Parts: sequence; structure tokens; C-alpha cells
Amino acid sequence: MLDQQEEATYIRDVLDRKNTILQEIRDALNRSHQHHDVRVIAVTKYIDETKARLLPMAGITDCAENRLQVAEPKLAAHMPVLWHFIGPVQMNKAKKVAQYFDFVHSVDRKELLDALDRYRTVEKPLQVFLQVNISHEPQKSGVDPESVVDLAIHCLSKAHLQLAGLMMIGTRYDDMTLVRNEFRMLRGLRDDLLERLSLPKLELSMGMSQDFSVAVEEGATMVRIGRFLVLEENPRT
Ligand SMILES: *Cc1c(COP(=O)(O)O)cnc(C)c1O
Repeated sequence: MLDQQEEATYIRDVLDRKNTILQEIRDALNRSHQHHDVRVIAVTKYIDETKARLLPMAGITDCAENRLQVAEPKLAAHMPVLWHFIGPVQMNKAKKVAQYFDFVHSVDRKELLDALDRYRTVEKPLQVFLQVNISHEPQKSGVDPESVVDLAIHCLSKAHLQLAGLMMIGTRYDDMTLVRNEFRMLRGLRDDLLERLSLPKLELSMGMSQDFSVAVEEGATMVRIGRFLVLEENPRT
């Protein structure tokens, strides 16, 4: 448990780091002549619920978890935030993910779309991102770029799901031009999907602590930031 003093310090630190991130996002948008909004999602997997509870007081509106077990105590705290699921979804967890979360960023197969649609009982559709394995790495999760259209069409046929966009996890290169190229490929895929399926809008969920500025320059509309926002750590120094 934190005492009152420690709580106030934590809230102030998160607020400072959030403001730094927002400034970097504005700079990245200016450099690349873009004007859209970028939503900052706080990845809370590193902290427990006693700290997570404080995030709304630092102006955090969106939180994300990659494992249901780690998420559950925080979901139970009924924080005034939107919840995003960003990790691999096992079939036996699909029901809880469909019912507890507002967004799922990590959908990569039809059976999972079927399960999420079946278990989504609340009136608001579940917002679904298709995770793309842009670098074709066998050990990475995500659908192959060639199969995205097919999966998107399947998603659009589901009454309780809404296709929100595409998601990727950038490879940890030392060379930022390589990860930039991956982000650019996802954006190309998104633009292609918009045109082929005549959709008005699709989000791009890409960029983490290390690479969010580059992701925003390449068109990210949602960034998922953990260490740099909720911990003291600056992974870029
Ligand atoms: C942990 C995680 C993040 C946040 O990573 P940081 O490097 O801590 O910012 C983003 N996306 C996914 C899918 C994650 O698992």
C-alpha cells in the first residue's frame, strides 16, 4: 500500500510523463504534417491495482492489459477508464475478454472472432483490432498480411463486433528505420483495407515506449505505452 504522500507523488510523476508523451506526439504529428488525434493507452501490466487506481487522477482515460489474470483485480476496481485487451487470447478466456473489455487489439483468427461475438452480450459492440504479423516471424502472433482482408470481412459479418482497426508490435531493432518500415507497411495495409471494403475509418494501434514517436510519424492513432508512462523507467536512455 502507498501512503497519501506516495500516492500524490505517483500521480504527479505519471502526469509529468504523460505530458512529455503528449508533447512528443504533437511534435511527431507536426513533423509529418498530420492533424488527427492520437489516443494514449496506459499499459498497466507492470503495476498492481493500488497504483492503477490512481491513473484516472493523472488524466489517464484508457488502460490495457495483456493477461486476464493480471487484469482482473484492476477491472474489479471499477476505474472510470476504457479497458483494452492487448495480449494473446486463448479460447477458454474469450468469454471474459468479450464481457470485461471495451477493445481487443490482438485478434488473429476466425474462431476467435466467432467466440468473441458469441460471448459479447452487452449492447455495445466489442471494438476489435486485427493483429498483423507484419514481419512474418514464425514465433510472433498475428495474422499474415495476405490474410487480413479475409479476416476483416469475417469480422464485419459479426453483429456484436465492430472492426476498429489494425494492430502490430514492432520488432525491437536498434535501427529505427527498420521498425519505421514495419509501421509504414501496416499503414499501407490499412489504407488498402479502407479502399477495398469501402470503410470510412480504421485505427492504427502501433507504437510502444521505445518507438511511439516513429509510429505516430507513420500514422498511428493509438499508442500503447507501459514502462515510460507507469514506471520510472525510460527505456530510451
Ligand atoms: C507490454 C506491452 C506494451 C507496452 O510496452 P512498453 O514497452 O512497456 O511501453 C504494448 N503493447 C503490448 C502488446 C504489450 O504487451
